[in-house]
Amino acid sequence: MKNNNIKPGNLYVVATPIGNYDDISKRALLTLSKVDFLLAEDTRKTGLLLKYFNIKKKLYSYHSYNEKQSAKKFLEKIKQGYNTALVSDSGTPLINDPGYRIIKLCRKKYIKIKIIPIPGPCSAISALSVSGLPTNRFCYEGFLSSKKTKRIKRLQELKFECRTIIIYEATHRVLKCLDDIKNIFGENRYIVLAKELTKKWENIHGDNISNLIKWIKLDLNKIKGEIILIISGYKILSKTNMQLSPKIIKTLLNLKKELPIKKAINITADIYSIKRNFLYKFYIKNKY
Ligand code: SAM
Repeated sequence: MKNNNIKPGNLYVVATPIGNYDDISKRALLTLSKVDFLLAEDTRKTGLLLKYFNIKKKLYSYHSYNEKQSAKKFLEKIKQGYNTALVSDSGTPLINDPGYRIIKLCRKKYIKIKIIPIPGPCSAISALSVSGLPTNRFCYEGFLSSKKTKRIKRLQELKFECRTIIIYEATHRVLKCLDDIKNIFGENRYIVLAKELTKKWENIHGDNISNLIKWIKLDLNKIKGEIILIISGYKILSKTNMQLSPKIIKTLLNLKKELPIKKAINITADIYSIKRNFLYKFYIKNKY
């Protein structure tokens, strides 16, 4: 007969290091030691982490490609009273890693499973914290599409995003992605490239996008490894501080010689990623 009085286990969502094993927290180690089993993205990788800390634990694989079935299967186990820890290959689970489905299932009101976060490293937050770009408001985009048309469409949507933008990118796509960003956001947008954080070849370098691309092309090793791009948000200049660089003004005035003012403003705004309305007000205010 079914026993409805079994107390369900807890589900711990445990962050693990993004490169340097010593970044693991005491609480994470304690949790990994005391649970009944672990759900891991890649059992081999998590196995190495456990071995390093001398923890022996049953590991089950929990991938994104079979998450739907796995989530149901392991939900049943947790309901039977097994304390479980969810980990990913590195960093915080669910941040571009598997876990969403099982958390969503366990969150259902009638299932009384406690979900407990064990916070720790997250590459996006680590990169943001050292970027020197505003951190009071930011948006996380994860990976842009590997398909050019989709990537460009998303970048066009992000062009006037004022918050700092965090993007994950794969080594072999970084240059293509930076080229697309340059074409859409304009060559002056400031970007920080954070590579291999907490590892031997850690490198954090920021510049405007044109210079950044030139700097990478001098030595392609600079984009070998795990990479995050932190992009400065779109800058809206205040009405009281209507200033534009001489380069922008020169472009506008040169275009104006050949084209109607509306067209000249539209083209200049597109080149330098400035709002058309702002440029128009600037033009009127300065009586050019
Ligand atoms: N859940 C992970 C986290 O919390 O950091 C992110 C997993 S996502 C599948 C992997 C991507 O994160 C990499 O392609 C890279 O963009 C970024 N990443 C992970 N570790 C990194 C590191 N040590 N340095 C720079 N980027 C890293």
